[in-house]
Amino acid sequence: IEAHVASAGGADGAPSAIVVAFRDLTEQRRSERMRADFVANASHELRTPLASLLGFVETLQGPAKNDAAAREKFLAIMRAQANRMSRLIDDLLSLSRIELKAHVRPRDVVDVVAVARNVIDALSPLAEERGVEVALLADGPALATGDRDELTRVVENLVENAIKYGDDGKRVEVTIATAGEGVRLAVRDYGPGIAPEHLPRLTERFYRPDVSHSREKGGTGLGLALVKHVLQRHGGQLAIESELGAGATFTVTIPAAVPAPATPALAKAS
Ligand code: ADP
Repeated sequence: IEAHVASAGGADGAPSAIVVAFRDLTEQRRSERMRADFVANASHELRTPLASLLGFVETLQGPAKNDAAAREKFLAIMRAQANRMSRLIDDLLSLSRIELKAHVRPRDVVDVVAVARNVIDALSPLAEERGVEVALLADGPALATGDRDELTRVVENLVENAIKYGDDGKRVEVTIATAGEGVRLAVRDYGPGIAPEHLPRLTERFYRPDVSHSREKGGTGLGLALVKHVLQRHGGQLAIESELGAGATFTVTIPAAVPAPATPALAKAS
């Protein structure tokens, strides 16, 4: 805590007014530190594929210059690395756009069931490739208040993670229900789950229990951070439950849409 003390002197030199302002420096320093860490982490994450790209360019210009087979192989790797950088930049931009809008509450009426159906359709090639069946369990439409594109990103991230990190050939369940003031969407997988010590940090940017495993799966480490920021801006919540060896459940709660007020009956003209 930093205290600023300012005093205005009276005629006799004694202070006639005193102002003490406290500023919570710990909070300010913490957020400065987080920002610096974030820039360092983002630079590091971008530099890794870039270094690999530069390495392959040098090899292609030098030792592998006339080796057609090596060239094909290296070009495929270079393409994958460039795609990785592109995904990372997309996620960084999405995150910063959402942060800019952090204090504006989105107000569209969004059917979360329709959003989930679209996401599951879009991810069906990935699910098929992994032999995963994604089931959608819902009774009817579930109307929430929010931003359709951002809520789509949330559901997409959670379902994609369940397919990627759950075990091949197992089921993923997306359950949606309206519960009181909120719409609840739960994504459950039956994969290896997450060790309890990682759970509290999972939504931090670039936090991954196993960085190389995440990279192998095409992850950027920003997916759950994005989910958290979108939900914060929506006045929603994220809960993560997991048991090692028994899978994981990610549950989001989004404020339900408020029904439009009934049109008041016209006052009878007298
Ligand atoms: P990534 O881009 O690495 O997927 P996320 O922020 O989406 O980044 O997730 C962070 C980490 O959380 C992942 O690297 C993975 O280790 C873990 N994780 C996320 N979802 C699951 C899941 N359904 N089962 C097991 N681990 C998961």
